[in-house]
Amino acid sequence: MTDSDNNLSAIAPIMDDVMRQAYPPATLYVVATPIGNAGDISLRALHTLTIVDAVACEDTRNTGHLLSRYGLSKHLIAAHQHNEREIADKLITRLQAGERIALVSDAGTPAVSDPGARIVDAVRNAGLRVVPLPGASAAVAALSASGLLNDEFHFVGFLPSKSKQRESVLTTLKPMTATMVFYEAPHRIAETVAALVDAFEPSRQIVFARELTKLFEEMHRCTLQDAITWINADANRQKGEFVLLLEGAQTAGDNEWMEAERILTILLQECPLKQAAALTAQITGQKKNALYERALQLKNTGEDDAG
Ligand code: SAM
Repeated sequence: MTDSDNNLSAIAPIMDDVMRQAYPPATLYVVATPIGNAGDISLRALHTLTIVDAVACEDTRNTGHLLSRYGLSKHLIAAHQHNEREIADKLITRLQAGERIALVSDAGTPAVSDPGARIVDAVRNAGLRVVPLPGASAAVAALSASGLLNDEFHFVGFLPSKSKQRESVLTTLKPMTATMVFYEAPHRIAETVAALVDAFEPSRQIVFARELTKLFEEMHRCTLQDAITWINADANRQKGEFVLLLEGAQTAGDNEWMEAERILTILLQECPLKQAAALTAQITGQKKNALYERALQLKNTGEDDAG
């Protein structure tokens, strides 16, 4: 038995899980599709696309092509940003007649910087069921491999193309401490990076996530200060689809604590640990115990370094 036989035999019991889930009629299934590599689709998404009566999609040609790669041929209904409201009524009529309908976009998760939200809203308001089939999303893929602290992130999506409006959005975003997530197309990447460089501190980290899951996939992390040099160093770096992640602002608390650490480090060179902590507390207003703990750490690190 080969490795691939082993892998295939492992999938069979998982199909039992797929089938155990209910796929009720009169339901809209919001199905995430790949953002590049056709392999990034879930078994449950494939099963759902197989059993639905129709697929509402952003572009019937793109979706027809994608479905054919999975050996599927379905009735396709065009549902793009210009006809979402009218198409919602048609979908509701079909759902009320008991059909199962899938909603997909050209790539990734529908309704995330893509059409779909208005349809979902209308279907819900009509009292019908909407079920998500989770999968690829460029934003989440980029965040997961960025190494930035993402306990909090703010999804911006595409910035306005007009410079005045873009500046005004960036000014609003400046104090935000969460990691910011931007989407960008190749013809605007250089302009957008220049706008970020103008608007934010040069020390902030930026992550370029380019062509994720595709042949020329690339992720690069640097400071804003180095961002323009990086994208200009190779013409390929302005090609393809991009997610940009930008580190959030330091909090006032972070800055005050960093200042206290700076003073503590200087005083530790001149006086005993307890006294250095007490003096730093007096100067900065930070807690003496926390400074004492930190002083111990700094001293230990210093001793370790001294070997
Ligand atoms: N609904 C999609 C999602 O879930 O991520 C986003 C669709 S939005 C119209 C298209 C934008 O997503 C692109 O301009 C790019 O910013 C980002 N994107 C899509 N695929 C990508 C990929 N493979 N690598 C990097 N960014 C991608």
